[in-house]
Amino acid sequence: MRYIIAGGGTAGWMAAAALARFAPPGTEITLVESDAIGTVGVGEATIPQIHLFNGALGLDEAEFVRETKATFKLGIEFDGWLREGEAYMHAFGAIGRRAGLLPFQHYWLRAKQLGFAKPLMRYSLNELAARTLCMQRRRRAPGAPEMPYAYHFDAGLYAAHLRRFAEARGVVRHEGLIENVARDGESGAITSLQLDGERTIEGDFFFDCTGFRALLIGQTLDTGYEDWTRWLRCDRALAVPCANGGDFTPYTRAIARKAGWQWRIPLQHRIGNGLVYSSAHLSDDEAAETLLGNLDGAPLADPRPIGFTTGVRREMWRGNCLAIGLSAGFLEPMESTSIHLIQSTISRFLSVLPSGKPDPALVDWFNAQCAFEWARIRDFLILHYHANAREGEVFWDGVRAMDLPDTLNAKIAQWQASGFIHREHEELFTEVGWFQVLVGQGVEARGYNPLADAMPEGDLRQLLDGTEAMLVEEVRRMPTHLQFVQTMLKTTNPQGVPA
Ligand SMILES: Cc1cc2nc3c(=O)[nH]c(=O)nc-3n(C[C@H](O)[C@H](O)[C@H](O)COP(=O)(O)OP(=O)(O)OC[C@H]3O[C@@H](n4cnc5c(N)ncnc54)[C@H](O)[C@@H]3O)c2cc1C
Repeated sequence: MRYIIAGGGTAGWMAAAALARFAPPGTEITLVESDAIGTVGVGEATIPQIHLFNGALGLDEAEFVRETKATFKLGIEFDGWLREGEAYMHAFGAIGRRAGLLPFQHYWLRAKQLGFAKPLMRYSLNELAARTLCMQRRRRAPGAPEMPYAYHFDAGLYAAHLRRFAEARGVVRHEGLIENVARDGESGAITSLQLDGERTIEGDFFFDCTGFRALLIGQTLDTGYEDWTRWLRCDRALAVPCANGGDFTPYTRAIARKAGWQWRIPLQHRIGNGLVYSSAHLSDDEAAETLLGNLDGAPLADPRPIGFTTGVRREMWRGNCLAIGLSAGFLEPMESTSIHLIQSTISRFLSVLPSGKPDPALVDWFNAQCAFEWARIRDFLILHYHANAREGEVFWDGVRAMDLPDTLNAKIAQWQASGFIHREHEELFTEVGWFQVLVGQGVEARGYNPLADAMPEGDLRQLLDGTEAMLVEEVRRMPTHLQFVQTMLKTTNPQGVPA
């Protein structure tokens, strides 16, 4: 089998590394990328699933942290999304403890009715650690919960790291501009990529990792695009790195602004920042002013504009072509889902790896799974916008008033009815993720599952207070995020993180 990967951004090199690691002997893997076009150059915050990918490749964590200038991430703070001046966190990991048949939210809702429930953060190890700028990998006290984490990293350095991995395992890289995509006249299958008017790269299966250009899946095969801007109305971003400053946070910040939101992602050597906004509500000049006026350090470059249309390819896989990364669609990065979608697409593809001509039964299954996965993430993102109380701001009033997808309406109604949250099939976000965002965005549950009343009130208090005390004690023993990164780098590199 000859695999051709068009594009060498995060998607292209993740695909190349995974194929190099797992494809059967005799597989040829070629990647084509254009220095003249370059990469989108953003995509620095991840979710804990990244461990599955890095782990499957067998990457050494300390080396990865050093090479990609990574820091650690325990969750995402949403600042001002409900209303100005209020913040909550979507932290990774558990909230409280399950008791009997019920998840924690029902006990918390009952305790809230009784008047003694504290804010969710008091029952989240990740958020307690994040708020005190602490980090650890292995639990210290017996009985303490796991503290799942992800990374912030430099996307360009991650791609370079994976490139070294892939090339060491035989992936052949061509630099050049793809000018034409040739197809078989009868079957319509892609047969080759033509570069710079002279080179022809032939293959059996093609991965479109050409970013927003979608050269193969869009421009050549025209598989169609489902536009979701009626719900997710931002269509532009400005990205700018700045010098380190402010807190060395083990979490991403997403700060609501007049017509969108701003991200802050701390790395070892700089902070990644950007403003995602609706161009119908904010001019580019106003966007630049907002972004540059809200940095923790001096800007290290001019802000870079990026336009996008939120939505998803109707078919990610057609014939002998599979779209991975931005060519497959775009969901804004408020929950750091794009790199995860790259890895889940790769692993789904490997689960039905064709040995010859792809079977339509498997392709259909694949496309249906992708459609489900993307739509559920879309719903989760819409919730952040829709459930706001930022009254009197045109953009925010508009998203509060919009009609929602039926699937999201159902989720909200189930929660409001009795605190019920159901994670459907393999949807990405867990009950705990929905719980935090529903509460954080001020969506009230009218009740809870009455099974929670079976617990005597004293035991309920003990469940909440005991959990909180254990978590606070666990955090008390942790090193700071800064100490943690410095200790990890010392094993491989004495320089590094901010002083
Ligand atoms: C504003 C913004 C913020 C984001 N933040 C996050 C985040 O925090 N977390 C997250 O997980 N994701 C984030 N993402 C998404 C993330 O950046 C992408 O998923 C990731 O970088 C993958 O991009 P890509 O490889 O698909 O495309 P690109 O990086 O654009 O790479 C495209 C490749 O195709 C090549 N190419 C294109 N056309 C041709 C041609 N004709 N000939 C030869 N080569 C060609 C280019 O040279 C390049 O190598 C963000 C995206 C945006 C827009």
